[in-house]
Amino acid sequence: MTEARKERVKIYASKEWRSLRLAYLYHHPLCELCEARGIVTLAQHVHHADSFTNYDSLMAKFRAYDYTNLVSLCEECHGWLHRHGATKNFNIEHEAKELDEQCGRGITIGNARKLREVQTGGTEVHGGGDRVPGGAWEADRQ
Ligand SMILES: [Zn+2]
Ligand SMILES: [Zn+2]
Repeated sequence: MTEARKERVKIYASKEWRSLRLAYLYHHPLCELCEARGIVTLAQHVHHADSFTNYDSLMAKFRAYDYTNLVSLCEECHGWLHRHGATKNFNIEHEAKELDEQCGRGITIGNARKLREVQTGGTEVHGGGDRVPGGAWEADRQ
């Protein structure tokens, strides 16, 4: 395990982090990214806007335990953020705008995915096109 990784494990296992996380969630119970998009979702995760893994030991601790560096997120938004590499220069308005464009205003990431599934299955049944193979309609065709 690298030093940075050891440090990360130590921080997340610390009593200080656990109480800081709980205190933050207590004061910010809703996903802040969903909230910025006008959606109400309970937060389960506390994310570091500026990831402490970007820094060496002393500065890493400073960023890890900095209350103003925390963001409450739901599981979907948290996963999305990390997949998009937004571990630096996190800007909630920017991320909210991008998610609105990707999912549609007021639609969660999970619902946008389900909607896409329904639409690619559903429209193909009526349209009869061949563009999206493997949908639910595939079996009916044979
Ligand atoms: Zn969310
Ligand atoms: Zn995170």
